[in-house]
Amino acid sequence: KSPSSSEIRKMFVDYFIEEHGHTFVRSSPVVPFCDPTVAFVNAGMNQFKSIFLGKEQPMARRVVNSQKCIRVGGKHNDLSVVGKDGYHHTFFEMLGNWSFGDYFKKEACEMAWNLLRGPFGIDTSRLYVTYFGGDEGLSLPADIECREIWRSLGVPDDRILAFGSRDNFWEMGTTGPCGPCTEIHIDHLPNSNPSIRSKLVNAGSPDLTELWNLVFIQYNRKDGGSIETLPEKHIDTGMGMERLVAILQGKSTNYDTDLFLPIFDTIQKISNAPSYGYEFEPSSEKYALDTAYRTLADHSRMITACLADGMLPDQNHKLRRIIRKSMLLSNNVFQRNNLLHEIIPKVSEILGPTYPEMQTKLPNVLEILSHEQEIFTALRRNCNANIKEIISANKHLEEVDLFDSPGFVPAYKELQTLKTHFTKNVMPGDFVFKLKDTYGLDEESIEKLAEVEGLQIDKVGYLKELAKAKDRSKDSFSDAKIIDKASQEISNYTAGLKNTENFYKYNYMYNTS
Ligand code: ATP
Ligand code: MG
Ligand code: MG
Ligand code: MG
Repeated sequence: KSPSSSEIRKMFVDYFIEEHGHTFVRSSPVVPFCDPTVAFVNAGMNQFKSIFLGKEQPMARRVVNSQKCIRVGGKHNDLSVVGKDGYHHTFFEMLGNWSFGDYFKKEACEMAWNLLRGPFGIDTSRLYVTYFGGDEGLSLPADIECREIWRSLGVPDDRILAFGSRDNFWEMGTTGPCGPCTEIHIDHLPNSNPSIRSKLVNAGSPDLTELWNLVFIQYNRKDGGSIETLPEKHIDTGMGMERLVAILQGKSTNYDTDLFLPIFDTIQKISNAPSYGYEFEPSSEKYALDTAYRTLADHSRMITACLADGMLPDQNHKLRRIIRKSMLLSNNVFQRNNLLHEIIPKVSEILGPTYPEMQTKLPNVLEILSHEQEIFTALRRNCNANIKEIISANKHLEEVDLFDSPGFVPAYKELQTLKTHFTKNVMPGDFVFKLKDTYGLDEESIEKLAEVEGLQIDKVGYLKELAKAKDRSKDSFSDAKIIDKASQEISNYTAGLKNTENFYKYNYMYNTS
């Protein structure tokens, strides 16, 4: 019998506590505190950032944890593949062991290797390891020491592979602690032939996926991009919990595990939709429904994590979009209005024992969600009649979330006339700029609009227009009075928006009987 996800998580933590003297530290909330460089906590290391930078003393030299992570937006943004592949989620758990100025490369590799082959019983002939092959741009040398460590642990040469900084130099964002890393990848098929299968490493294949990243934190990337050496060397590792569970439960994707199947079950029972069909092939008939199952299950985990940690959709637009997308999926695909209300208690049941806030805050989570649902329903009902008309004639636009963008109607009309003249279906930079500047669409909406209309965006052209506009405003706004007047207008405008929002909040949140 294969171990449950809870048993697997516990085995990981126990191994580092009992065999290697680590101390357990609980997951930080997914809301980044005091760190404006990221919108969500995206890795186990975020909460330890100031320890790495030498600004704070560690609670212990050796730490083990399982961290709630979200990768939507920023340097690590996986939103566009979520639901389409079987191993990237918006919310996932990262299992990690940490050395704050204690052990370094050799011990870290050894501990990881021994855990995988020992307690977890993974056949090492399915594993490949990678190391940093150097980067001329960063003027950093190849990590030969790391290669030799893997050799000394008995990994054959044809399973030790070098990669550049894209895959083997880990950075949290544009600034912060960073360093070369070594990764363990796993073949989902047994008896693999390294000369053929090694080509799949880091190639985006669902059959050979990255499992564990061991980062050798020894640098800090500063504003402006330069790299400085840190006073001490640290170990920061991150293993994808859902990927590990899939392997140990003998499944080919993360969704086929006890972390997701019960959620699919709930969706199915409540909606009466056909059952989940395990389909990843876009040309298959079942693909659309299965992708909806995966996306909805994924998003409800992310929504639960965010709301239980006190993040508000008012403050985080990415979260609000994901909530709205999930509501649309519930309505359009599963024909149910409040499916999220039924799924989220299931998520809380699965993850609550590990992250108690998902249990204790469940009533708050559901209340905020009702509020969001009411705002969204009201917006869709009351939004500009022309927007409604365009959207009902062009269902694909629903996903763009334009209900509160009054500038959308003229923008869309103009897009339809211009579209036929775009070369190679690329939206030129000046038009993208116009969508933002004249019609007031935000960048995410413009990207989504382009996507659903089958268009590309000339990003460089757009950035040039932005830069030009900045120059222009320097000249024309040199008069302090004009600046005052403009900022007055802006604040009137945003106050107006706030009022609309409050109107919905109070009318709908408190007057529902
Ligand atoms: P990938 O190359 O597969 O996108 P990554 O290199 O971006 O992964 P890391 O930043 O190295 O990932 O994070 C450490 C580990 O977290 C990965 O080895 C993987 O197991 C897991 N992981 C990363 N992103 C996701 C995600 N979106 N969903 C689930 N697990 C993830
Ligand atoms: Mg990634
Ligand atoms: Mg990777
Ligand atoms: Mg990685």
